[in-house]
Amino acid sequence: MAQSAISQHTAALSGIPSQPKAANPYGLMATPAPAVEQPQPRSWSFIDRVTGETVEYTCMEGCTLDHTHEIGNRVFREDVWCWTYAEPLSLPVNNNGSPEELRVLDTLIKVEPWSERVAERLPFAVIELVDDHFIDGLDPDGLETVINTLAGRLEQMRATHRRLVEVREEYRQRPARTVRGEAV
Ligand SMILES: [Zn+2]
Repeated sequence: MAQSAISQHTAALSGIPSQPKAANPYGLMATPAPAVEQPQPRSWSFIDRVTGETVEYTCMEGCTLDHTHEIGNRVFREDVWCWTYAEPLSLPVNNNGSPEELRVLDTLIKVEPWSERVAERLPFAVIELVDDHFIDGLDPDGLETVINTLAGRLEQMRATHRRLVEVREEYRQRPARTVRGEAV
């Protein structure tokens, strides 16, 4: 049964130390954030809406989803999933003429133990680039690829920042009559 396989896998995962002790084993730039002490995964059960069977389920480690509406209730197995949310980040994004605070770069871990896509039955990462625009289904290599891409872009942004400081300074040095608003 799929459920027991997932439970075994979850049990196996929980035996793995969550914080690497040695130097970064994950790659060059994608240094993982320090692991946060997680409470034990919750175990609960629901009633399979198709078969009527009571299904025992153990949450993914670190799951922060509220399963209240599923516990003890009749649900489709495919609708059961777990995720763990990161601290939200927002920036004022201008989409229609005036800036609006939108979520950016939210990265969460999700698992859908009865998904039709087998790859989703193991925890994977989802990045919300900006409000409701996602990069989905990332395995660790995929997530590292995105992190490294963004890290490269940050370097480019820093170079642009340095250039901006220089360009503004050069602009300020111009004769006063050519600087709009500063002419006397
Ligand atoms: Zn859960």
